[in-house]
Amino acid sequence: MKQNCIKCKNFDQIFICDGCQQSFCNEHINEHHEELSRQMNDINKDYHHFKEDLNNQEIIQSYLSRIDLWERESIKKIQETTEKARNDLLKMFDRMKNQLKSTCDKINYDIQSKQESKNYSEINLNKWIEQLEQLRHIYKTSFQDDIIDDKQLSIRLIKIIDKNQSFSIEEFHTNTHEKFKKTAGEITLSQDHLTATCSGKNWNGSNISGNSLYSFGIHSIRFRITKQGKNNPFFGITSFAKELNPWNRKTPFAYGWWKFPLNTNEEENIKNPTIQTDDEVTLTLDCINSQIQFEHHRTKQSVYQSIEHEQCPFPWKIAIVLYSPGDAVSIIS
Ligand SMILES: [Zn+2]
Ligand SMILES: [Zn+2]
Repeated sequence: MKQNCIKCKNFDQIFICDGCQQSFCNEHINEHHEELSRQMNDINKDYHHFKEDLNNQEIIQSYLSRIDLWERESIKKIQETTEKARNDLLKMFDRMKNQLKSTCDKINYDIQSKQESKNYSEINLNKWIEQLEQLRHIYKTSFQDDIIDDKQLSIRLIKIIDKNQSFSIEEFHTNTHEKFKKTAGEITLSQDHLTATCSGKNWNGSNISGNSLYSFGIHSIRFRITKQGKNNPFFGITSFAKELNPWNRKTPFAYGWWKFPLNTNEEENIKNPTIQTDDEVTLTLDCINSQIQFEHHRTKQSVYQSIEHEQCPFPWKIAIVLYSPGDAVSIIS
């Protein structure tokens, strides 16, 4: 079949664009290249704007305000506490001073009157000496015990919780909050969308895809086989752009595993090597290295598969086929 330019329907000198697979005549392929170069400039500009946005502290502004507020309130609290402690101490000192002074005054009065009447003996002198010593002792020991209680917790200190989170796309490896979303065939989803059950009596192509789309980083999703009938479920991915066809057991446009590929040696060494009810498996979508990994936790087996971008372009989504009626799979993290 001869192709024509999608712009002018011309048949002469047809070029096919590598990117979009559309055909263009000589004139329109140039126009198409110009359009791509315009888009490239726009993308460049967007990156430039984004880098400028990075200087904007707005996203931490509310934290900065809270730190400032804490500083002001804490300084106020410290100043009030200092003021009160200083006043209380001076009041206590005055009380001690006044009490000792008034005792002194009484004794002085006694001494003076005895002096004037010349009516005193060693007994009086000894008594006054002893009383003065007692007063000196009271004065010296009145602040001997520590009177500052510094175990009061009236100020809570603050600090920033730095979880050492990586902000780099390359190191972005997290458990996503994946949920089941679109289903085909007779599938029942739990209310929280974390468990999918094949509910039909006869299998009718039941499959489920995930809520999240993946284009960057590395993501792991852990599943539990809540119940498994006589056939293995399929675990893998499809491109967002292409639908899974579960009727085809070779699953074109889907990448993943119907069963764990084990060689005969391993099958002898591992007890129950196939996936069974209550087993846990992890599907890892590695967008950086364009591969997916499937891990069977009970048998500690892992398999990898490379993904071709032409066949399965980003974004990816998880795809599960439940082959036996009654099969159920849950997302656990
Ligand atoms: Zn193109
Ligand atoms: Zn044309």
